[in-house]
Amino acid sequence: MILHNNSPLLDSMTLSEIAGHPIWLKMDALQPTGSFKIRGVGLMCQRAFERGEKHFVCSSGGNAGHAVAFAGRKLGAKVTVVVPETTPEFMRQKIAAQGATVRVEGSVWDEADQVARALAAEAGCCYAPPFDHPDLWEGHSTLVDELVAANYKPGSIVVAVGGGGLFCGVVEGLQRVGWTDVPVFAMETEGAASFAASKSAGELVTIPGITSVAKSLGARRVCKQALEWSKVHPVTALQVSDRQAVDACLNFCDQHRILVEPACGAALAAVYEKAFEPIGESTLVVVCGGAAVTRSQLELWDKTVERAQ
Ligand SMILES: *Cc1c(COP(=O)(O)O)cnc(C)c1O
Repeated sequence: MILHNNSPLLDSMTLSEIAGHPIWLKMDALQPTGSFKIRGVGLMCQRAFERGEKHFVCSSGGNAGHAVAFAGRKLGAKVTVVVPETTPEFMRQKIAAQGATVRVEGSVWDEADQVARALAAEAGCCYAPPFDHPDLWEGHSTLVDELVAANYKPGSIVVAVGGGGLFCGVVEGLQRVGWTDVPVFAMETEGAASFAASKSAGELVTIPGITSVAKSLGARRVCKQALEWSKVHPVTALQVSDRQAVDACLNFCDQHRILVEPACGAALAAVYEKAFEPIGESTLVVVCGGAAVTRSQLELWDKTVERAQ
């Protein structure tokens, strides 16, 4: 059973005009649960299910937890998502609506994660991590297989980086299909730039905190594989401000009529802010999506996120 969709590949006239260079969009905002996460989570959960692990436990109150809840419902597994008190009520409801049990534990994510790990230690349980697992990367790499099937080889790929799972999947896919010459622009917001920190240090760095509104990029340290790939694949780490990420969400909403999180806005801002030098005939932006956004939340960010002086 494949739990994700083959997502639309769009030639964006609006973004191409802004960039002065052809921009294509891989619309993973249209996956079930609203983000690319189901690609990797679907594969990981399916393999766990086949091994006899029929209870998935996760500590993400964001898109990873939402995707695990969806996968559990489709596979017929029990799902428990342990979230901290800071997880917005509407995300708890979305996860619960997939049939998962949502347990609120602790005021910060680490406390929720400890409870999740303890629960998952029981027989027949699977602890589902959000970005650091080979099955996740393999699942995310299907995005590149879909480009091959569409006979579309981009000049470069723009992708948002949180913990680096999506990035690892995209690079794994590029390497596997022999597109080792397709560079990747790894986008982060300034208050969540853990990949850039590790890449420039040449070793894993834990940043002191996350100050960005792009909560889905909020991993203080990326997975080791992301750092390893940055040593063998052409990668440029770039940052945009929260303001630029939010503006990208607003513009994208008007132009493409799809609501995405600032995490995805960070990737789109690469185009809106002309943050990269176009390479080759066209650029592909992975529209990673995200369900932790509403019109009113986006309006609130628009009012509260500081504008450049
Ligand atoms: C998870 C997520 C990211 C970051 O993905 P990583 O695999 O953690 O790098 C970016 N955008 C959205 C919408 C996400 O859900």
